[in-house]
Amino acid sequence: MSVRVRFAPSPTGSLHIGNARTALFNWLYARRHGGVFILRIEDTDRERSRPEFEGAILEDLRWLGLAWDEGPDVGGGKGPYRQSERLDLYRSAVDRLLAEGKVYHCFCSPEALEVQRRDRLARGVPPRYDGRCRALAADLVRRRREAGEPAVVRFQMPQERITVPDLVKGDVHFLGSDLDDFIVLRADGTPSYNFAAAVDDCRMEVSLVIRGDDHLANTPRQMALAGSLGWEPPRYAHVPLIHGADGAPLSKRHGAVTVAEHRAGGVLPEALVNYLALLGWSPPAGKDEVMDLPTLSRLFALERVSRAPARLDPERLAWFDRQHLRRASVEGLIARLGVPPSEMTRRAVDVLHRDARSLSEIRASVATLGMVDFSVPSSATLVLKALCGALPPRIETEEQASLVLEAVGSQLGLPKRDVMHALRLGLTGREHGLPVASLLYILGPDEVQRRLDRALSLAATEGR
Ligand code: GLU
Repeated sequence: MSVRVRFAPSPTGSLHIGNARTALFNWLYARRHGGVFILRIEDTDRERSRPEFEGAILEDLRWLGLAWDEGPDVGGGKGPYRQSERLDLYRSAVDRLLAEGKVYHCFCSPEALEVQRRDRLARGVPPRYDGRCRALAADLVRRRREAGEPAVVRFQMPQERITVPDLVKGDVHFLGSDLDDFIVLRADGTPSYNFAAAVDDCRMEVSLVIRGDDHLANTPRQMALAGSLGWEPPRYAHVPLIHGADGAPLSKRHGAVTVAEHRAGGVLPEALVNYLALLGWSPPAGKDEVMDLPTLSRLFALERVSRAPARLDPERLAWFDRQHLRRASVEGLIARLGVPPSEMTRRAVDVLHRDARSLSEIRASVATLGMVDFSVPSSATLVLKALCGALPPRIETEEQASLVLEAVGSQLGLPKRDVMHALRLGLTGREHGLPVASLLYILGPDEVQRRLDRALSLAATEGR
């Protein structure tokens, strides 16, 4: 059977990193097995779904490098890939189930359901729908429907034992009798999540569903539905959720929890995917933990997905970010920073990326290379002049720049700190910033000369 996996986000908000990890595991699995990665948009919740959230989710996935083979924008043989465009398919599946008596109309109002719920709680039994509309006579149902009474359609849950053969957790058993007759079609005619997902996973020939284990309780329902339609359900792998450092399920109070927040914070996408891949999955022993997507996809295997929840650790993410920053190509970083690819920025990024803690730090340092308005104290002019005299025509390395500075220092016999302070001020107008040797190397002799001339002429004007 060919490998077809899917990521099925609901466009009701920003892409959460837990969901990004689900997308990543599916992508890695597809790539590892030469399979197909499908993107399906689950937008049947009309009130909460918004096109701008869908756009942002697609953008975040692209940024992470997780391209899909079939999806709403790229198409594919099993489309459409937006559930709101598949309503006819759900309708015909419901009609078939209605004709076969496997689903039924339920007229219980939200208020009546609430009374049922409280009543069950008071009796100490689990609060759930008690199935009272299951036995309504067919002609009564027809008359109430014709009279325009709102109704949902519910699935008559088989009472048998259902085993979810889970590739992470092993077999998980459920009793159909513990599960209520859940809604397949809402009163407004839109399908419920469980129904649409079950239909789509089968119709899109999904071979394996990898998703968070918060969906485990839905799986016997989806399997039963597929079975009642005569379809083979996919296989499943439920991955433990991500928790905060305090062990609680991830929420806003744990800081950045969306991909967009990490993006805005300047994290490199390759660092985020590397970090997310290792949240709940471990590479074979002896492998370097710092990996790019192709390496991850060569190694990824569900057998090494942990059964325990993973814990979010921002410091570990920052560590991966530094590792990837160090390994990134200068050209790639320049493109990400969106700075002009001049010789100066090339040298700056080359110097900075080896020690920087983040892309934002590089961006901030590059910004300090520009000049700000300043006045040079007359005491500094001596130092600036000495550098003018010592500038070689070319500076090829930072080491060479250090030697030039040493020569200036020993020629003047001044403390190193004073020399550097005067030069930094003369070259950038700033009191603080990059080491002066780095500045000399990055700016190059011509630009250094231009700045020194300017500083000296300013000092001369002020001294008058
Ligand atoms: N739309 C569901 C969600 O975002 C998908 C769950 C699933 O993978 O089946 O949680």
